[in-house]
Amino acid sequence: MAPITPQPGIMEIALYQGGQSHVEGVSDVLKLSSNENPFGPSPKAKQAIAEAVAEVHRYPNTDHAPLRAAIGEVHGLDPERIICGVGSDEVLQFLCQAYAGPGDEVVHTEHGFAMYPILAHAVGATPVVARERERVTDVDALLAACTERTKLVFIANPNNPTGTMIGGNEIARLADGLPEGAILVLDGAYAEFVEGYDGGVSLVDARDNVFMTRTFSKLYGLGGLRIGWGYGPKEIIDVLSRIRQPFNLSEIQMAAAIAAVRDRDYAEFCRAENTRMRAWLARELAALGVPSDTSLANFVLARFADVAEAEAVDMHLKSRGVIVRRVASYGLPNCLRITVGDEAGCQRVVDGIRSFQEARR
Ligand code: PMP
Repeated sequence: MAPITPQPGIMEIALYQGGQSHVEGVSDVLKLSSNENPFGPSPKAKQAIAEAVAEVHRYPNTDHAPLRAAIGEVHGLDPERIICGVGSDEVLQFLCQAYAGPGDEVVHTEHGFAMYPILAHAVGATPVVARERERVTDVDALLAACTERTKLVFIANPNNPTGTMIGGNEIARLADGLPEGAILVLDGAYAEFVEGYDGGVSLVDARDNVFMTRTFSKLYGLGGLRIGWGYGPKEIIDVLSRIRQPFNLSEIQMAAAIAAVRDRDYAEFCRAENTRMRAWLARELAALGVPSDTSLANFVLARFADVAEAEAVDMHLKSRGVIVRRVASYGLPNCLRITVGDEAGCQRVVDGIRSFQEARR
């Protein structure tokens, strides 16, 4: 009998390692490992979820028109150029399914989001890594990594797990230098944390080869519901819409997202608190001799002396119920990514690192 084999590329995939949420034997756990909003979603989103539950026997709306209208209204975008997915992960998946396949290349940055190579392999394409410069996206390296086989170039801005960001001129230079037929995908999962940043809308509007993605998982505190969206040229939206499953989002997801995106006061509160506590956390870490790059996202990448120290700090924090993220699989084995919590959460992680240092003396 012929062996049963998966499609090419599938066995190349390294399983995604999600943020841990439990520690054996510890009840008071503080999870700062998945860049979640410490305040949760807007109360209006919770109310909308409760109301939408009454209609779960009905199939959801298939075209997401009310959600696209709400996003379009808030961000000043044409709803016809928006597509919604099960998290922005699904929108990234649509892009790979639609534009990349065996023999094609998908370029991403050295310390880029783990889903990029997974999604590329899943469609049989080859992920290609472009080096960064001191944990910052390097446009020259990205351009050098492109070939005539490049179909997609993914950059997250701000990037996960580094938190660093590059400016609009650099992104425009990247878009302009791409090979014919390649699409630049600006992953804006953390864009909302950056004051005055539109995630690249003006660049998308000015080019036909730039697409951007956003999420409700981070600033809006709805990671558990799985809602994301993309904005791009009409032609690309038309292509992606053909492969999107008609019922990919439930009414619960859509109702929650509509209420969340409309609650500007709450979003602004969360953004301002993140900015305030991120600065505090980076300052406290520096005072403890732990450097971090300037982060514009809702996490800080703390750098330790070596791998052994990062591991030891991670274990110590875990023993106190504080879960942060090891990022060895991102090529940063001496770093820990710490989500910006609320005031008490930030204090607890700093106290944990201080007590580690004291115990070592
Ligand atoms: N892009 C980046 C850079 C991320 O960090 C994440 C979440 N970890 C995502 C995309 C996907 O987020 P979601 O699918 O929850 O929208």
